[in-house]
Amino acid sequence: MSTDAPQPPAGAEPAPPAGAAHPAPLRTALAELTARLPAGTLVTDPDVLAAHRSDRAPFCPSGTPAALVRARSTEQVSLVLGTAHRYRVPVVPQAARTGLAGGANAVDGCILLSVERMDRILEVDTVDQVAVAEAGVVNAVFSRAVAEHGLFYPPDPSSWEMSTLGGNAATNAGGLCCVKYGVTADFVRGLTVVLADGSVLRTGRRTAKGVAGYDLTHLFVGSEGTLGVITEVTLALRPAARAPLTAVAFFPDPAAACAAVADYMADGTRPSLLELMDRPTMDVVSAYRDLGFPPDAGAVLIAQSDRGDQAPGDLRRFAGTASRHGGDAVVAEDPAEAELLLAARRLVAVATERLGAYLADDVCVPRRVLADLVDGVAEIAREHGVRITCVAHAGDGNLHPHVLFDPADPAEAERAHRAFGAVMDLGLALGGTITGEHGVGVLKRDWLGKELGPIGLRVHRDIKHALDPYGILNPGKVLPAAHDAGAVH
Ligand SMILES: Cc1cc2nc3c(=O)[nH]c(=O)nc-3n(C[C@H](O)[C@H](O)[C@H](O)COP(=O)(O)OP(=O)(O)OC[C@H]3O[C@@H](n4cnc5c(N)ncnc54)[C@H](O)[C@@H]3O)c2cc1C
Repeated sequence: MSTDAPQPPAGAEPAPPAGAAHPAPLRTALAELTARLPAGTLVTDPDVLAAHRSDRAPFCPSGTPAALVRARSTEQVSLVLGTAHRYRVPVVPQAARTGLAGGANAVDGCILLSVERMDRILEVDTVDQVAVAEAGVVNAVFSRAVAEHGLFYPPDPSSWEMSTLGGNAATNAGGLCCVKYGVTADFVRGLTVVLADGSVLRTGRRTAKGVAGYDLTHLFVGSEGTLGVITEVTLALRPAARAPLTAVAFFPDPAAACAAVADYMADGTRPSLLELMDRPTMDVVSAYRDLGFPPDAGAVLIAQSDRGDQAPGDLRRFAGTASRHGGDAVVAEDPAEAELLLAARRLVAVATERLGAYLADDVCVPRRVLADLVDGVAEIAREHGVRITCVAHAGDGNLHPHVLFDPADPAEAERAHRAFGAVMDLGLALGGTITGEHGVGVLKRDWLGKELGPIGLRVHRDIKHALDPYGILNPGKVLPAAHDAGAVH
């Protein structure tokens, strides 16, 4: 455990304990932290706390936090966790709170531990093509910074202008160009992680190869703040990619588009992006910003190739495959046109959020059965009498069905929740997973046992217990309650 935590200014009195109604251990922990952290680092203002209670997942429960700590260093994170561990106070790690599974939501009486202010890029190494950054650096800021060195950081969640490298690592975020380059985990070489007791662990390496010991780095990637708090990331980079060429193809229905995806991927082509939107999604985007989608199209695929001279040939093959499946493809003439198509895709989440109530599913299936998933989701929507829009990282088989509903209508809300579960059941039945990239959080906690099975769940619990014996780190997230192990809904 680090010993150089910041000391209170000479002569300063600890601030009065926040929230007299809190239990004594929590009051003591907050008083100690207030005294030892720089002024203003620990906040108990109810308005600020209310603004930080939840992430972007609608309808996930969130509790009332006792305090927010905006840490600026690994030492401060260590101080918070060490203190919380001693007094058994729950801690919820947070970054930009763009999560879509309620993973960053407060629990009652917790300390929200934000790393957003740890936002320095520490090193960009052009020889070894790695960079080291603090966890709170925003993905797009980092990506632009390494681009200035002629390097490329591929993981690009649609939230890349907001979400952080630490949050991306904690959720193992995917993105639009994962179909060619892989997800966040494929680029994380090493981490600095503060464990539940405040000790500081350095995992992994910066070398291109290395197999010493267990792969602790990837144990923390995707652990959603339940095993430790990531404060620094060492990320692998690639040489800058060539400017991509973009094509778009409109289809009569999503199943035809999915069949085209399976065929196109089977010919050995690796597009650098292959995204799908169904008609309801095009309508949602058009209501937000009119981008001129043809009114009779049932689905659209956007494809890119960044293989330089070979890109035109790749996209000609894409157009040919599309037309064999009833699609009509055009290659974007200029980069501005291509950017408009991508903007439409990136707008989906924001445009959907404006509709109010929706449940965001995130199932991922083998590509060969993507059409079965899409057809099955349409059937689920009909059966449950709800509207479901579908957008997909189609090249990955990763579908985001958004179940829209009116929360003021309890019967419709109930049907929406059932439909949401039925989509995950279908994904599992097709050999897929309940979450391709958004994570489990609280949203899908009760389905995790179904995917992992009892032994998988037991190993998860054992790991959690070994690293966080008092269960202070992000309690109630990811793992279902013990009595609910392997719950079937
Ligand atoms: C408009 C929009 C588009 C999106 N598009 C995508 C997409 O294309 N692909 C995708 O994968 N996701 C997407 N997301 C979801 C979200 O952006 C990602 O999950 C992202 O990685 C979360 O990063 P964050 O910094 O906001 O983390 P937060 O939301 O603050 O936290 C997410 C989880 O990680 C934990 N956590 C955060 N920081 C740390 C840390 N330093 N150490 C330990 N645990 C931590 C939290 O406790 C929580 O469980 C989208 C969200 C929105 C709102």
